[in-house]
Amino acid sequence: SRQFFVGGNFKMNGTIDSIKSIISHLNDAKFDSNTEVVIAPPALYLLLAREHLRQGIEVAAQNVFDKPNGAFTGEISVAQLKDSNITWTLLGHSERRVILQESDQFVADKTKAALDGGVGVILCCGETLDQREANKTIDVVQAQLKAVADKVTDWSKIVVAYEPVWAIGTGKVASTEQAQEVHAAIRKFLKSAVSEEAAERTRIIYGGSVSEKNCRELAKAGDIDGFLVGGASLKPAFVEIINAKQ
Ligand code: 13P
Repeated sequence: SRQFFVGGNFKMNGTIDSIKSIISHLNDAKFDSNTEVVIAPPALYLLLAREHLRQGIEVAAQNVFDKPNGAFTGEISVAQLKDSNITWTLLGHSERRVILQESDQFVADKTKAALDGGVGVILCCGETLDQREANKTIDVVQAQLKAVADKVTDWSKIVVAYEPVWAIGTGKVASTEQAQEVHAAIRKFLKSAVSEEAAERTRIIYGGSVSEKNCRELAKAGDIDGFLVGGASLKPAFVEIINAKQ
């Protein structure tokens, strides 16, 4: 069985004070010891988070570059994450795909670089509302993941985050049936494009307006192995989401 995984994506939010206060709340909280918890603050606060968080809660970058070092102004390398004890990174978040125009290919190159450098990847995928209405959801998600499967055979350090773009920050959470359908399709895709073992073992987590109100219902679905939480990860209720699996 797959270990439940809950990530908090702070996006471009927070200050030294507010992030310290979120961290002290998490440090004091009781979690199911079987649940893996990872928070992703803005890059500027990664070291602060690592310094203050208790052992057992991991820190993720929100992005990383695919080149090892050099003249890449504004970017951060995988080795620099490792050097700072940052063990995970998000990649392919829809806000980067849409606003910063990252291609499936670029996301795949960065995923490979992160894994090669020993940093785990929370690999985000998901369709826009237009794509869903055109019945392209599975095609879009498969294309996003295929770009990675073409370059990476070992998926043991990848967590796939299915985040339908129309559900992100909108309060319009996917129904459990909608999410489960896509998660099952992702698992089927992993079986054919990677391996039976990858399909069985890879955590597929859901993101998009997850809250303390809807998390328990979603967590019941057989192929939902956790959550990637945006807005609610900045609030005390994040602890309830971490403990959603009963
Ligand atoms: P919200 O939980 O704010 O909808 O954001 C989801 C998300 O994008 C997490 O990466």
